[in-house]
Amino acid sequence: MVPPASPGLVVPASLAVLAHRYGAGAPAVVELIRRTGGCTSPIRLEGESVALSASTRQVVARRSTRSQPPGFVLVPCGNRRESRCPPCSERYRRDAYFLVAAGLSGSEEKGVSTDVASHPLVFATFTAPSFGAVHRRVVNAGGARRCRPGGGQAEVCEHGIPMCCPERHAEDDARIGQALCPDCYDYEAAALWNANLGALWRRTITYLPRELAALSGLSVAALRSQVRVAYAKVAEFQARGAVHVHAVIRLDGPDGPDTAPAGGVTAQRLAEAVARTAARVAVTVAGPDGRELIIRWGAQVDTRPISADRDAGDRHGAGVAGYLAKYATKDAQKGGGLDRRIRVKGVIERAELSDHARALMRSAWTLSPRWAHNLGFRGHFLTKARRYSVTFAALRGVRAEYRAQADPWLTQIRAKAIGDQVVIRRSFNYVGSGLSPAERAVAASFRASPTWGVSARSSTAIKSAEPRRHLLVQATLGPRSGPPGWSTSPVRPA
Ligand SMILES: [Zn+2]
Ligand SMILES: [Zn+2]
Ligand SMILES: [Zn+2]
Repeated sequence: MVPPASPGLVVPASLAVLAHRYGAGAPAVVELIRRTGGCTSPIRLEGESVALSASTRQVVARRSTRSQPPGFVLVPCGNRRESRCPPCSERYRRDAYFLVAAGLSGSEEKGVSTDVASHPLVFATFTAPSFGAVHRRVVNAGGARRCRPGGGQAEVCEHGIPMCCPERHAEDDARIGQALCPDCYDYEAAALWNANLGALWRRTITYLPRELAALSGLSVAALRSQVRVAYAKVAEFQARGAVHVHAVIRLDGPDGPDTAPAGGVTAQRLAEAVARTAARVAVTVAGPDGRELIIRWGAQVDTRPISADRDAGDRHGAGVAGYLAKYATKDAQKGGGLDRRIRVKGVIERAELSDHARALMRSAWTLSPRWAHNLGFRGHFLTKARRYSVTFAALRGVRAEYRAQADPWLTQIRAKAIGDQVVIRRSFNYVGSGLSPAERAVAASFRASPTWGVSARSSTAIKSAEPRRHLLVQATLGPRSGPPGWSTSPVRPA
């Protein structure tokens, strides 16, 4: 964690270094870093914005990084992971919180009906099954229990290792999640399970209406004509390297969030249907050695109705949204994985990993090198049904619009453009990323003040682009039918 600093309290030594490097452009560099919110690895761009009249195509105004010190702009990295960039991750967490909370209570401002708060809402946790005995920390009212007491005569596995552990593991014990016997642990199945979690989830959502219909005494067709399932879910790595899923599941009417579900389904019944579905649903997959494996949820599935009552503790909507948002910024590191992609297999042997994670990562590499760092899990930590609530893109769009309103150059053009549409063409080249040690010190001083300069959407586009490739973004401003505002849309390089 970066220690919090007072915003704007930049160490004089760092400023001296910047002045030496950028001369008169040093204050502009400090301002650029401030606007990234103290991003640890911003992207450096050179280029220009040109404002054109939509009717005559004549240039109204032009702004180039070449004519302004320091000659470049900075865009935040936009990384979701707390381990990679705390300020960008914090912004993502806030968006995730809003996205989940808007699906629980609605948001008139963002176009999500507030009626959703009265729909049946369930918070569910789906676990992974066992792939072999691991060291564990189980805490109950009497404190930490013994890991695996084993009873009178200790069982010994075929490799001669006792399948018991009398210890009461402390919270930070590195053995938690590690296999008692690595030769007994089914690493291949564990990696396959992580890899097929998405398919298992889709099947769960598909089959949920069947259980709901059975509990409601309706045909599946009749139920489907009355309700729709919407959800938001996050993946969380367990110490043993298996992924758990935490989800908000909501029932809407046949036409989505704006309509109430018919058929009298309560949150209680939805919770029961989720639990029954989780117990029954399965996906059959083939392992790399041709072995067939049935992927299903573990026995521990927790479902509870979400309450609008503030005194409901962890069943209250705000608590649930906070919980999901927090996990959305984590990665496979909690399960012993790595926070970035592996390109060479040898990294698995060299990286600082537990033996357990290394064995799991080897199996995951065999399945797909692309997801080995994630122990087989394929990507998206937070996903949602389209109808659940707003999108990340919409939230970023709002931020971009807000910044555009505050940009004096754009305000000036807008003032001049009365009666005409103005098109803004942005054309920027990637020239690098990251910060020098002095710039890092400046960035750290801004981390306590969460003000962000540039949209994360453009940073995503830039990251995926090849270095030096042209990036064009087109924005239109001027009179529109709706309220005054901005719209931006990426256009392909000509
Ligand atoms: Zn960042
Ligand atoms: Zn143990
Ligand atoms: Zn064994």
